[in-house]
Amino acid sequence: MLKRNPSIANLSSGYLFPEIAKRRSAYAKAHPDAKIISLGIGNTTEPLTPHIVDGLTAAVHNLGTPEGYSGYGDEAGLTALREKIAHVLYNNLIRSDEVFVSDGAKCDIGRLQYLFGPRVNVVVQDPAYPVYVDGSVMIGAAGKSGATGYRGITYLPCTASNGFFPDVSRIKKNSLVYFCSPNNPTGAVATRPQLEQLVRQAQKTGSVIIFDSAYSAFIRDPQLPKSIYEIDGARTCAIEVNSFSKPIGFTGVRLGWTIVPSELTFADGTPVIRDWSRLTTTIFNGASNIAQYGGLASLDETGLAETRLLTDYYLENASIIRKTLLSGPFSPAGVEVYGGDNAPYVWARFPGKKSWDVFDFFLDSCHVVCTPGAGFGPAGESFIRFSSFGHREQVLEACNRLSQVHLS
Ligand code: PLP
Repeated sequence: MLKRNPSIANLSSGYLFPEIAKRRSAYAKAHPDAKIISLGIGNTTEPLTPHIVDGLTAAVHNLGTPEGYSGYGDEAGLTALREKIAHVLYNNLIRSDEVFVSDGAKCDIGRLQYLFGPRVNVVVQDPAYPVYVDGSVMIGAAGKSGATGYRGITYLPCTASNGFFPDVSRIKKNSLVYFCSPNNPTGAVATRPQLEQLVRQAQKTGSVIIFDSAYSAFIRDPQLPKSIYEIDGARTCAIEVNSFSKPIGFTGVRLGWTIVPSELTFADGTPVIRDWSRLTTTIFNGASNIAQYGGLASLDETGLAETRLLTDYYLENASIIRKTLLSGPFSPAGVEVYGGDNAPYVWARFPGKKSWDVFDFFLDSCHVVCTPGAGFGPAGESFIRFSSFGHREQVLEACNRLSQVHLS
């Protein structure tokens, strides 16, 4: 029999969200009358908008005609979409041939881990989107989990006391640094001076930043950077991943992109873009052509207006959640509330409590599912992430219930 892949065996437990789903369904089984509302998973809930639906349906109809049919396309995506991303979303800070359209940011993060392989020093913000750590363990870049996280991973704590921006001087030579802004789960957005610090440190240490900007469409403060390429020097040290999932509800349709600047090289001088191109053309066959026409529709004037309305809707949910948390008694030690203004996540700290205990408390006392902060890394302990992805009436009902419970 084949031996189990030891890197996968090194993963300590289930992925966070299946674990939440398991607890939720066990609770629902034991309490069949409970009307559970989820403010937990970052999955979109609102329907696709009309202009984007038109883009998708036109593409489907075209595929049904002899002249409009196409099979496999360019693995890097439709030229028109790559150009539109470079122009509309990056104001030409990057070139269209540096844009690689994909089936989503998560899949691209996995492929990037494959690109860099097991011999890198992995650095993550703590807390972080679990894919950075779990994927690094799976590829063999990190070892077994210990008391303070996985061996081989440098965790940079992002706490209220450092404004959720870590001490980047701890980034060592030749590191692969995962950095997410707007951040999942903290909802914090790095400022321009902060990103300048990050880029300088990456340059100094010969490190590469994987900048995950999957939530950039939620930034409303014009002073906050939406892309790492707004920072001088980033083209020599950063790759950016982004996604159509959250801005236009493509979580199920699947569409994202990765930017690999031509100046970025490996130690031997090989351009990273060359290997990325080789890797993606080998193990990826391109994003769905239908999805790409939907993405294209989202980047014209009407599509951008619809995107704004959709993201505003979730930001309004976030504001309702924020207000509820700030006004609720919850626990004798109070609650600290962060994020939710330029990001769809509200990050709340319950001093003196364990995240999973607060999770169980909310599930049990008011049938609201949230996400325990400890699942995102050691510094997430005592925190809960509330997601603003939900129907308004459900968010209002969840908030109404939350405002009536007391965590002793
Ligand atoms: N990056 C971050 C920070 C996320 O939170 C998520 C999804 O929740 C993703 C990437 C995944 O994006 P996609 O749907 O494009 O795979």
